Amino acid sequence: MEPLDRSTIWPYRSGEPGPFYYQRYAHPNGVAAERALGELESGEALLFPSGTGAATAVVLALLEPGQTIALASGAYFGTSVLFRTLERWGVRYVEFDQTEAPPEEADLLWLEAPSNPFLTMPDLEAAAAHPARVLVDSTAATPVYLRPLDAGADFVLHSATKYLGGHDDVLLGAVVCRSREDAERLHTFRSESGIVAAPDPCWLLSRSLRTLPLRMERHTATATELARRLGEHPAVDVVRYPGFGGLLSFDVADAEAARRVETSLSMIGNATSLGGAHSVLESRARWEGERVPPGLLRLSVGLEEPDELWADLEQAIVTA
Ligand code: PLP
Repeated sequence: MEPLDRSTIWPYRSGEPGPFYYQRYAHPNGVAAERALGELESGEALLFPSGTGAATAVVLALLEPGQTIALASGAYFGTSVLFRTLERWGVRYVEFDQTEAPPEEADLLWLEAPSNPFLTMPDLEAAAAHPARVLVDSTAATPVYLRPLDAGADFVLHSATKYLGGHDDVLLGAVVCRSREDAERLHTFRSESGIVAAPDPCWLLSRSLRTLPLRMERHTATATELARRLGEHPAVDVVRYPGFGGLLSFDVADAEAARRVETSLSMIGNATSLGGAHSVLESRARWEGERVPPGLLRLSVGLEEPDELWADLEQAIVTA
């Protein structure tokens, strides 16, 4: 691993600033992690202090007041909350079904692959045929399963807090741009606005990317098996799983049944977020209200033994 460098300043050489002079503009651990992620996505990666910070930077740096974002309905709840907040600055947003053709009147298509917590996959061909630019939030797919720039997208967004970081110990976001010009605009905006990721999370990302393919393989194997067993369980109504990755959701009868599952687990944590080594489950109605079925439970499948996870799930669902 490259050393962790927390310096905020580096001396000028012969009276001139070198590649690193003030941390807000660039720092060695950020550049190293951006290079590694850029290689995985085949684009120009830029890191931000969170996935939401990355989304804020994209909207403010690349859109104008009066422009419209078409957001995949059922995508991460916080993204719609962010866009509602940013409406004050004149950026509109509409929601659409990402499995079908996007609405005509849109300047940026904001897709999610797969959506969290409905696990739908976007129609990337229809999106690429639309004149608007295309962003794919690929947090749950990761570059192991999807490389959106190869499929015609202009931007990939990650909450690196999830699978890329992978250990529930780093809050971080990334945008990977197809074009150098967009990356430069975002970089300038990042330096001027100060929405900059610090060295420690960038160093942790570099560490985590080394095990990303192995972790994803294991998440997928276990989640595939748990999705199959959940699908056969008489108390489970619907199972949503796209066939790859560690994120799935399923429905039990109602809010009370969901609460009983949440509070009966022992090995699986009752906590939010996804993408870590430790499995966590939560009812999403707590945050999203009527946007999701009252009995919807989101499960982030970790790296534990599949049979042990199933034993915990089964005893919790039986009590429901
Ligand atoms: N995108 C997706 C798909 C997410 O699940 C999340 C967080 O849950 C975000 C973006 C926001 O990321 P962060 O929490 O790092 O701001």
